[in-house]
Amino acid sequence: MEECDVIVVGAGVAGLAAASYLRGARRAVRVRVLEARGRLGGRLWTKRLWPDRPAVELGAEFIHDCKPARDIPDLNRGRGRPVKWGRGRWFFDGQVVLGGGPRVQQAREGAWDGWIGRYPKRAGSVGDVLKTWSRRARQIAAADVESEYAAAPADLSMNAVYDQWDRWEDGEGDDFHPKGTYEGLVKSLARRLHIVRDEPVDEVRWSRNSVEVVTASGGWHRARCAIITLPLGVLQAEKVRFIPPLSRRKRVAIRDLGVGKVVKVFVRVDSFAEGVGYALSDCAVPVWWPRHVGRNGVLVGWAAGHSADTLSDGVLIDVKCRAAQSVGAIFPRLLPVRFEDIHVVDWSGEEFTRGGYSYTPAGCDGDSLRVALAAPEGDMLLFAGEATDDVYFATVTGAARSGHRAAQEALRILA
Ligand SMILES: Cc1cc2nc3c(=O)[nH]c(=O)nc-3n(C[C@H](O)[C@H](O)[C@H](O)COP(=O)(O)OP(=O)(O)OC[C@H]3O[C@@H](n4cnc5c(N)ncnc54)[C@H](O)[C@@H]3O)c2cc1C
Repeated sequence: MEECDVIVVGAGVAGLAAASYLRGARRAVRVRVLEARGRLGGRLWTKRLWPDRPAVELGAEFIHDCKPARDIPDLNRGRGRPVKWGRGRWFFDGQVVLGGGPRVQQAREGAWDGWIGRYPKRAGSVGDVLKTWSRRARQIAAADVESEYAAAPADLSMNAVYDQWDRWEDGEGDDFHPKGTYEGLVKSLARRLHIVRDEPVDEVRWSRNSVEVVTASGGWHRARCAIITLPLGVLQAEKVRFIPPLSRRKRVAIRDLGVGKVVKVFVRVDSFAEGVGYALSDCAVPVWWPRHVGRNGVLVGWAAGHSADTLSDGVLIDVKCRAAQSVGAIFPRLLPVRFEDIHVVDWSGEEFTRGGYSYTPAGCDGDSLRVALAAPEGDMLLFAGEATDDVYFATVTGAARSGHRAAQEALRILA
C-alpha cells in the first residue's frame, strides 16, 4: 500500500494544474498523480504525424482569451501569437455561399449573442431559435454552433449558451495559439511531480478519514483525500467504481450533463495557399482550417455533434473517404488526397476520454448540475475537470481553473 496526502486521478490539465498547485503550496504536501495512459495531457495531445510536417494538436489547439487564462500563470506564459482567422468560406449544396438574405448574413457573422439574445424566451434549445430561419441560414448556423459546442443545436441549451457569453470575462477576446505547442504547457505543469503512468484507476474506496484507490495493475494507494479529474464521458460510462457509490445529486449531474462528440481530421497537403481562414460547409467533415500553410501544409477538419454521430458509426477507411471527399468539394485544387495523408482522431473512441467536451443539454439547469459535479463528497473526495467549471467548461482554462479550485479544497482538508 502506497501512502501520500493527496492522490490525483488523471494527468490532464485539471489534474496537472491541481498537483502543481499543491506542490507549490507553502506546506509540504505529498501528492501522487495516477494516469491511465502512457502519455500526459489527456485532451492536450501534441503529435508529429508526418516527418516532413510540424507537430499538430490532436486535441485542444487554441487558448480562448479570457481573464482567468491570463490569471493562471502557466497558461498566461504559454500564450503565443493570436490566431489570424482570416477570410471565411461557406460552402453548401455544392456551392460557395456569397450573398444571401439578412439571416444568412447573420449566420455567417456568427454573432450568436445577438441572435440568441434577441430571442424572447431563452428556454429551449438553440435549435428552437433556428426553426424559423431559412434552410441555408440554419445550415450555416448549425455548422458554426457544432464547431464550437460539439453538440447539435437541437440538443444544446439556449440559456446556457447565452449565459456563458454573458459571464465570460474577456481578455482581448481573441484566440491564441500556445507558444510552441500545448506539449510545452503539459511539460511545465508536470515538472517535478510524482506521476505514475499506465496506471488506470479501477476503484475508489472512500471513508470518513481516507481514500483508497485501486488500479488495474493491482496497485493500492491511500491518501487523506483524492482529486478526481476523470472526464465526464468516463464517469458516465461508470468505468471507475466508487465504494460507497457517489451521492444521488452527483450521479444525476453525471447523467444529465452532455458530452459532445468530436472527430478531428488532419490532412497533409502540398502548398496550401488558398488564403482561407476557415471553411464551414454541409460536407461530411463540415469545418476546415489550415494549421500550416505553404509547403508544410496541414489542413484540420472538424466534425462534431450531429456530424460526428454520423462519422463515428463508420470504420476508419470510410471516415478517411468522407474526409477526402469533403476536402475535394471545398478545395478542389488539393485533389487527389491520398489515404496515407489523412489522420483521424475520434475522441469518443478514446477509452480514457469517451467524448470531446461537456455541454449543457436543453432543458437542464447547467449551473446547478455543474455545482453538483464539482461538490466534494464526504470531505475527502474532490472533483475537478473541465465539466465542473461553471463558466469556462469545455476549455483548457476551465480545466486548469477547476484544478486550482480542487487543490485549494484539498489544502483546507489537510490544514
Ligand atoms: C478535439 C478537441 C479540441 C479542443 N479544442 C480546444 C481548444 O481549442 N481550446 C480549449 O480551450 N479547449 C479545447 N478543448 C477542450 C479541452 O481540451 C478540455 O477542456 C481540457 O483539456 C480538459 O482537461 P481535463 O483535465 O478536464 O480532462 P482530460 O484532459 O481528459 O484529463 C483527464 C485525464 O484522466 C485520465 N483518465 C481517464 N480515465 C482514467 C482512469 N480510469 N484512471 C486514471 N486516469 C484516467 C485521462 O487519460 C486523462 O489524462 C478541446 C477538446 C477536444 C477533445
